[in-house]
This record gives sequence, C-alpha cells and structure tokens, in this order.
Amino acid sequence: MRRVWPLAALLLAGCRFPSATPPASGAIAITGATLIDGTGAAPVPDAVVLIREGRITAAGSKASIPVPADAARVDASGKFLIPGLLDLHVHLGSTGGPGFRAADYTRDRVLKNLNSYLYFGVTAVRSIGTERDEGLAIRNEQRTAAPRTARLFTAGRGFTAPGGHPAQEIGAIARQPKDASDARRQVRELASQQVDAIKIWIDDLGGRAPKVSRGVIEAILEEAGKAKIPVSAHIATLDDTIHFFEFGGSGFLHMVRDTETLPEDFVSALRDRRTVFTPTLIRQELAWYFSEKPERLSDPAVARLVDAATLDAMRKSVAAAKPSPAGRKEFDIAMRNTKRMADGGVPIAVGSDGGSQMDLPGLMTLRECELLVEAGLTPLEAITAATYNGALGLGREQEIGSIAAGKAADLVLLSADPVRDIGNLRKVDRVMLNGTWVNRESLELK
Ligand SMILES: [Zn+2]
Repeated sequence: MRRVWPLAALLLAGCRFPSATPPASGAIAITGATLIDGTGAAPVPDAVVLIREGRITAAGSKASIPVPADAARVDASGKFLIPGLLDLHVHLGSTGGPGFRAADYTRDRVLKNLNSYLYFGVTAVRSIGTERDEGLAIRNEQRTAAPRTARLFTAGRGFTAPGGHPAQEIGAIARQPKDASDARRQVRELASQQVDAIKIWIDDLGGRAPKVSRGVIEAILEEAGKAKIPVSAHIATLDDTIHFFEFGGSGFLHMVRDTETLPEDFVSALRDRRTVFTPTLIRQELAWYFSEKPERLSDPAVARLVDAATLDAMRKSVAAAKPSPAGRKEFDIAMRNTKRMADGGVPIAVGSDGGSQMDLPGLMTLRECELLVEAGLTPLEAITAATYNGALGLGREQEIGSIAAGKAADLVLLSADPVRDIGNLRKVDRVMLNGTWVNRESLELK
C-alpha cells in the first residue's frame, strides 16, 4: 500500500460570486447582536456588522466599528448572528419523503428544495452525485446573477460500480463505468460541465452490492486531478477511506464505521491536508429517528416542507419501520469516530444527505448539527463545522462560511443562543442571502 500522502492542494478555479444590485440606501448595519463568526473564535457581544453591495465590509465589536451615517440600521439586540449554514451532502429533486424517487427530479422541485434549505438558514449546499441538467442550469444561472435561493454547488452525476450502490435506487443516474478508460472519459465529461466536485460511492453495503474497483477509483482521481476538480467519496470502511485518500481523494461523506482503530498517522495526515470529513450521522439515525418518536412528524416545520400526501406516506413508513440493532451499533461507532477525528484536528463539516429517504431538506441539516454535539463536539465547534469548515470543503472559505470583511453577506439571525444550546439553530429570526433579507414566509418549499 502506498504510504505517500499527496500534499498538492487542488487549486480551484475561483470565480467570485456576482454581487447583488446595490440597495439605494447604501450600507446595512446590523447592531447589538452577539456575533459568532464561524471560525470558532469566541462570540463577540454587542457587535456591529456592516454590509454593502452583498458583501460584509466590517464585523466586530461596537467600539471598533463606526456605523456610517447613511447605513440602514437593523437593531439586533438580544439576538445571535451566525454565518449562513452550509450542507455539503444533499440530493436535490426529492421531497425527502419515504423514498428517493428519480422521477421526482424537476427544475421546480430542485428550486423548492433550495428554498427549503434557505428557509432553515442553510445558504449554500453541495448536491453530490444525483444532479441532472436542470440543477446544473440553476447552478450556472447563479454564477451570472445574484442567487435568489440557497447557493448551489454540484457534483453532477457520481460514480459507482456497475449495479453498485445506489444504482438499486437511482438506476442509470449513477455513472457505472465499465473500466478505467470509460471512467476517465466520464470525468472529462463532468469537467466540461464545470462541476464543483466529483462523487464516488465506495460501499458494498456489507457484501450485498458490487463495489467500484480500485483501478477505476485511481483513474477517476488521476483524471479529476488533471482537471483540478476535488473528489469526495461516500465511504464505510477504513481501508477504502485510506486508499481513496492516498490516491488524492479530498473529501469524505459518512464516517468510518467498520472499526474504531483509526491509525494516528492517517488522522494526522487528514488534519495536515485539511481534508474535510462530513459524517452525515443523521442518515444513520433516520433509521429510528421518527419511528422512535412519531410525534416528531407533527413538528410544524415538517408540514411546512411536505404536502399532506407525503406526510401521510411518511407516517405509514415510520409505523412499518423496524430499526436493526446492527444499525444502532454502526451509528455508535460513527459517533465515536467523529469525535476521534475532531479531537485529531480533522475538519468536520455538516452534511445531511437531505433528499434521501425521510431526510427532510434543511430541517435535517439542523438535526445533524445537534448530532455533532451529541457526538461530543462543543456547540461552537458544531457551528464552525456547519459554516467555516463547510466552505473549506468547497474550497470557498475566502468567499463564504464566515463573518468577516470581504465575505458574501450570507447570514442567519437567531433569537436564542446556539452556543448555549445547539438546538437554538432552529430559532431562525431572519436570513440574509448575498446582502438581501430573505422573505422566508413567501418561499415556496413544497
Ligand atoms: Zn448521499
């Protein structure tokens, strides 16, 4: 096994986001909130954040930042200001109901999903592996005009083995190259679509499905490296995780769940290369999350997201669910390994797998933040995971994911302190996207 950790960071073709049309009144000043900037720095009470033309121009304590006379002041005293959240693991074009149905994918559904994320304060998502032309078109539109819904980064259609996971659910949407040269050709096709990432599923579902071969994985990584496109893998086992990393993989979805012995040199190499792990614990917890407490389906937030027929189908699915003890065991392993990785300095990001079975867009992003805290991260670390580390995983940390001069003004104002209780991420007061307050109640979500 190769023991060389390739260190060359991928240089992403960094196009800046277009700015919003400048508001007639010039600057916006948000004053009086406790500022949690997304980097893990200590919260700053009684802060001032200035915004102009879609960007943050200054952020810090009231004493250090004079408010310009022409600024429109927003008094946020008693509130908490965080960066817009990022979800690095979503599948658009699905309701998040009892099944992921390929036929549900339409432009309208993709936009409603993006609105759903935005509604809960998730201002950017990475759609990873199941994107079709409609989503790519929306992503392209966002690069030439200010975004009107959550920012979309996309991996297009991802790779698996012929007949491998998740082809059993999504069929030919998953690329199933027959050999390494076919895989290379398909990477070049993705490069021509200027995808933001490439996805590989590396999972044999415990021996129940074919797994993509190492030769194909290495070919994808090499070809993607030439095109400077970062590759993220859905993984399950430590061996596959190490192999993918050694050959240049730059991000992970889900957590190692076949062992709790994580080699120290591997963890420190992940840390040194700033390789982002997106544990997606919620995907495992959803096996029992609703069936254990069906009243969770009565949360008004659920009804905001899905229509009555879908909600009814979800209730039926929950009533029939039989969570397996093996699933619990793997979840516990993933929780403990998440804490181990975090303790080892590996950047942990937030991903929900939103859009997959019972995985409600946006709402489950917030649940994933709670699970990171249940795994042992502090609430402040979980906020960093959902903001700065998410941007790091996208290679966009200079543009989004924190509250600092020069960053896009994607912000969430909360009515209660998320550092005291991560559950307070649910208490969204206002969301700002690209310097414009979002009219949340007018967003079409379902
Ligand atoms: Zn997924």
